[in-house]
Amino acid sequence: MPASAAEPVDYTLKVGDTRIPLNDLIGHPLRLDYDGVIRCIHCDRTTKKSFNQGYCYPCFRKLAACDSCIMSPEKCHYHLGTCREPEWGETHCMTEHVVYLANSSGLKVGITRASQVPTRWIDQGAVEAIPMLRVATRQLAGLVEVACKQHVADRTNWRAMLKGDVPELDLPAERSRLLGLIAGELADLRAEHGADALREVSEEALSLSYPVEVWPAKIKTHNLDKEPSVEGVLQGVKGQYLILDTGVINIRKFTAYQVRLQVFARA
Ligand SMILES: [Zn+2]
Repeated sequence: MPASAAEPVDYTLKVGDTRIPLNDLIGHPLRLDYDGVIRCIHCDRTTKKSFNQGYCYPCFRKLAACDSCIMSPEKCHYHLGTCREPEWGETHCMTEHVVYLANSSGLKVGITRASQVPTRWIDQGAVEAIPMLRVATRQLAGLVEVACKQHVADRTNWRAMLKGDVPELDLPAERSRLLGLIAGELADLRAEHGADALREVSEEALSLSYPVEVWPAKIKTHNLDKEPSVEGVLQGVKGQYLILDTGVINIRKFTAYQVRLQVFARA
């Protein structure tokens, strides 16, 4: 049996300097009003458009966190001396990473910095996840992920994730199966980077539950760019999404948006 969090995931929403406990608001009507201002989460400059979920264009072009190797970690170029911010690279990339299997909308492979477990899994709305390997760097995690992608998905189908009827999987069995399938690639990587750099782990799976009272039957999305005022009764939170009775909203996408939140009494 996977280790299980007894309680559903606890969510807070940061509005300005306030952290609002979202779980307490489920069942309440909410209203979000976007006033048209976007402030870069790095430099606080106002920007017409948000790049990479919260940055202005100059920061998007300059920061290592916004480089294309973050999306494609196998392309890490730290070793070439061309990292945009080598110090950031040392703490975020040249450090232990976990290659994991998760069940978010079915089986998927993913990678994350070791310190981001289980935050990353919660972010993806995984109902269960299991570490597969612990590796020395982000690039190695990316290379293992590339090998895995021939056999399993690396994306979450967020519509399926938000439907709430994700079938159960035997993640320890899937882990053994996949490690067998990529044994050749792992041997090659160990030959090049050292046996200690890629360690298979037998850690337990973790199951996660989310505070959702009503699952959406049909998925409609809200978009603050098109509709600056969004209203609805909060029915749950999963992954990066608020589930309202009027539609879902990917709140991460609007991280840098200046938004006012109003909460009303339960109807
Ligand atoms: Zn900026």
